Amino acid sequence: MKRLTHWINGAHYESVSTNTAPVYNPATGDVAAEVPFATAEEYATAVASARTAAAMWGQSSMSRRTEVLFTFRHLLNARRDELASIITAEHGKVHADALGEISRGLENVEYACGLGTHLQGAFSSQVSTGVDVHSLRQPVGVVAGITPFNFPVMVPLWMTANAIACGNAFILKPSEKDPSAALFLAELLAEAGLPAGVFTVLQGDAATVGAILEDPAIDAVSFVGSTPIAKSIYERGTKAGKRVQALGGAKNHMLVLPDADLGVAADSAVSAAYGSAGERCMAVSVVVAVGDVADRLIPEIAQRMQTLAIGPGTDPANEMGPLITREHRDRVASYVASATEQGATVVVDGREHSFEGSAANGFFIGVSLIDNVKPGMSCYEDEIFGPVLGVIRVDTYDEAVALINANTFGNGVAIFTRDGGAARRFTNEVTCGMVGVNVPIPVPVASFSFGGWKDSLFGDAHMYGPEGVNFYTRGKVVTTRWPDPATSEVDLGFPKTR
Ligand code: NAD
Repeated sequence: MKRLTHWINGAHYESVSTNTAPVYNPATGDVAAEVPFATAEEYATAVASARTAAAMWGQSSMSRRTEVLFTFRHLLNARRDELASIITAEHGKVHADALGEISRGLENVEYACGLGTHLQGAFSSQVSTGVDVHSLRQPVGVVAGITPFNFPVMVPLWMTANAIACGNAFILKPSEKDPSAALFLAELLAEAGLPAGVFTVLQGDAATVGAILEDPAIDAVSFVGSTPIAKSIYERGTKAGKRVQALGGAKNHMLVLPDADLGVAADSAVSAAYGSAGERCMAVSVVVAVGDVADRLIPEIAQRMQTLAIGPGTDPANEMGPLITREHRDRVASYVASATEQGATVVVDGREHSFEGSAANGFFIGVSLIDNVKPGMSCYEDEIFGPVLGVIRVDTYDEAVALINANTFGNGVAIFTRDGGAARRFTNEVTCGMVGVNVPIPVPVASFSFGGWKDSLFGDAHMYGPEGVNFYTRGKVVTTRWPDPATSEVDLGFPKTR
């Protein structure tokens, strides 16, 4: 059995831990490896190495940091195919989707390559007689990142690229469900010239996260995962005096107005609901159909669902792979069952899809479409995180917006319409952090920041882009005077600006 390592002080680190978890190949159901959870000694070794590295890296020149990031960008791009295969083997998503995830991660590395611009301060000359002021941003120190299973490369890169560009040491605690991609990133960063200790991979579970949150040696925590854990991490981390950004779960609505091009809307709904088997925090999980839209749109969606190729992600013919674990697959299936019990109409039932050969034991489920979904039903209230799309019928635009704004989540949302005025009004009124106009998955490019509202984000800082740079740095303002000893005098008054 393959046993995974940590990455500590610039090298693979064999764990002695007896506390381990299986890592599955979700396409076959086989256990492919085991991941050890850090012992207290291993945790202490990792943090000590990161602290030493942070002191050195925080003082390194911008040109050195930029050079490492450019080289890393080159290596990541050159070896993206290999990395995509690692993602597919443990996560299950199809190879093309894994490549897409890497591209979105690369964007963040490219953004971080511009650190010379992002870290520029301001300067004001002669703010008082003979007095100048300038501002600068300095690294926070040692930052920990705790990441979910669904993007084992992109989400770690949302954090890592900016954190190290800003001069911090970064400790990644990847998801225990697909931890190998993090080790591959560590190898590439080392090859790119990143000094030992600046990037660490610490394999672990809730206990490891608890140690991170309590440890005064960790200055800031970036978290991405489900809402209950995000909320708890934010509360525990801030209570311990840390800077914390914690991104949580989602229930992303797609509002379709009667004037929309329904062919485009159906293509978008199918792509955004079933891509990556619905295991995306920006997946569309509810269509809000206004007026007569549902009767016209549902047949279009159902027809497209019939042609989706579902199977192992290693086969280039497949468009959708398995779910991450057997338990998660069964949980997703239970939401389809509950929908019928609670009065919704299952139009296409993914539980009926059968899988053969090696896939028979994999964690597969087909795609589902549920009509007549209503608030209060568990298939609407909970984040299902699987290939299940619900349709809620409403009479008016106002009813649709009230419904979306009443939802506890506020990650992504989209409107499909040809009416510019309605779209503009919607972008203004909706209480979500990321809005698409005829764009179903509005993940911002790396030069903007990513984050939801309400129960989709705890903390003030969104992730990556300018807010990421702010999160990974502390501001400082320096006021300077070069006095003339001849005119110097004692003055007990409050410092004046004139
Ligand atoms: P998860 O919350 O179960 O796990 C996320 C991380 O937290 C993992 O590293 C895990 O080891 C750790 N963890 C799990 N239980 C913990 C506990 N009790 N205490 C401390 N740490 C714990 O999430 P997941 O199932 O890996 O990922 C799916 C979830 O992530 C979905 O809810 C999805 O919406 C969300 N997500 C959100 C975004 C976003 O940007 N908002 C992006 C991707 C995923």
